[in-house]
Amino acid sequence: MISLQKVSRYYEAGERSVHALEEVSLQIGRHEFVAVVGPSGCGKSTLMHLIAGLDRPTAGEITVAGLSLTTADDAQLTDFRRRQLGLVFQFFNLLPTMNALENVSLPLLLQGVSLAESEARARELLGLVGLTNRATHFVHQLSGGEQQRTAIARALVHRPSLLIADEPTGNLDSASAERVLGLLHEIAQEKLATLILVTHSAEVAAAASRLIELRDGKVIRDEPSDPRAVG
Ligand code: ADP
Repeated sequence: MISLQKVSRYYEAGERSVHALEEVSLQIGRHEFVAVVGPSGCGKSTLMHLIAGLDRPTAGEITVAGLSLTTADDAQLTDFRRRQLGLVFQFFNLLPTMNALENVSLPLLLQGVSLAESEARARELLGLVGLTNRATHFVHQLSGGEQQRTAIARALVHRPSLLIADEPTGNLDSASAERVLGLLHEIAQEKLATLILVTHSAEVAAAASRLIELRDGKVIRDEPSDPRAVG
C-alpha cells in the first residue's frame, strides 16, 4: 500500500540545510493501523506531508496505492489526494457556516456527486461515528469530541484507502479522546482504510497495531504496538 525507499527531505534554511528526514525506508500494508511517534521536530509532519502527496522528497522513492508520488505530476497528485486520502487534524477544520451533514457531504459534492447521494452517504457516515442525531447541528453546537467525530466522518465519506490523522485527540477531554480512539480502532478493525496516526500520546499509540518512532529524521523503532504500554 505504502512504500518508502531511502526517502530524504532536506530544507534549505539560510546557510545550512535541515535534514528533516534521512533515508527513511518503510513498507505499510493495506489496512494496517500505524502510530508515528517521536519528539517535536523529529520529522513526523514532514513524513505525513510526503505520504499525503502534499510535498515531494529531496531524494528517494515513495509509492502509495500504486502511484509513484515522486514522479507524479501535480494533476495526478491532486487526483490521488481527492480519491485516496482522508485527513484528520487536531483542529477540526470544519466549516462553521455549515451543519454537520453539510460538512460531511462536502467532499462528495466537490467531486460532482449529486446532493441526494452525497447526503445519503454523509448520513451513513454520521451514523458510523455515532452522530445521527446531530446531523443538523452547526459546528458551534457540537462538543469538541463531536466535532472531531464529524471531521472523521468527513475524512472517510469518499471511501479513501488511506486515513492520516495528526494528533486526532490532541484537543479533547479524556472521555471524548477515548471515544475518538475507539472509533479509529473500529475503522481499523472494519478495514475501512489504512490508518496512520501521528501522536504524542502513549495511550493513542497503544491503540495502533504498529509503532514507528522517529528521532532526528530517522526511524529508530518499528515494532508491533504494545497495549500494555498505556500508563
Ligand atoms: P515534527 O512534526 O516531528 O515536529 P517536522 O517534520 O515538522 O517535525 O520537522 C522536522 C525538522 O524539519 C525540524 O527541524 C523542523 O524545524 C524542520 N522543518 C520543517 N518544515 C520546515 C520548513 N518548511 N523549512 C525549514 N525547516 C523545516
